[in-house]
Amino acid sequence: MRLSCFVAVALVASGLGSCATSPTGRKQLILLPESQMSALGAQAFAEMRQKQPTEKNVALNDYVRCVARPIIAVSGSAIPVDQWEIVVFQDPSANAFALPGGKVGVHSGLLKVAVTPAQLAAVLGHEVGHVLARHGNERVSEGLLAQGGQAALASVLKQSSGRAEIFALLGLGVQFGILLPHSRTQESEADEIGLRLMAKAGFDPREAIELWKNMAKNSGGQPPEFLSTHPSHSSRIQDLTELQERAAPLYREAQAAGRSPRCQVP
Ligand SMILES: [Zn+2]
Repeated sequence: MRLSCFVAVALVASGLGSCATSPTGRKQLILLPESQMSALGAQAFAEMRQKQPTEKNVALNDYVRCVARPIIAVSGSAIPVDQWEIVVFQDPSANAFALPGGKVGVHSGLLKVAVTPAQLAAVLGHEVGHVLARHGNERVSEGLLAQGGQAALASVLKQSSGRAEIFALLGLGVQFGILLPHSRTQESEADEIGLRLMAKAGFDPREAIELWKNMAKNSGGQPPEFLSTHPSHSSRIQDLTELQERAAPLYREAQAAGRSPRCQVP
């Protein structure tokens, strides 16, 4: 997005945005303040909690938190671990998501595909990776730029003071910003960050490969919704295999430091 970044420079001059760098060193267009993304995340998550039944089984909730917390703890997130909201939704699809502002949602169906703590850690690492790399902000920024052009965008950004106003002004729902599908580039980047996070947290990174093998077996011809823009299972497995070399030392360090989460599968 070199052109977008170039345009962003004009917005940076007026304090409206920036040409940022992702955790893997990729240039990104980031126009919205993170506080706004966090507010949007919180709002979308609250709506989901209202609409969709959550899993009440205590052991199951404890298990998901047991896996999620060590990942969040090593992520460098500005939000303290105990302030992250981690919710299991009653939903048979093999899905999970994380939103800016420290929100994690896991569909109960995921636990039928991610059958070990480390496999669940692979999914959660990936989702937290999207948040760390500010992929939602990037997608929204690109969308805003495409839609408004520079002048319109600047005026929209200036006018908006609250959380969803930007989207309201553009005639879009809150969900647009938060649940916009990620690009292939973002997916691969989230895989890379996720693998690093799980290894650092003390989960065996090789299990990420097993997870995607399970996904391939379980998805049949129809990939789960959140996978629709994801790379194919085979290319993903290949990439994750190549990344093992870098993840292995992180895993060994974690073990040496005593980071080895013991989470009981319910
Ligand atoms: Zn993803």
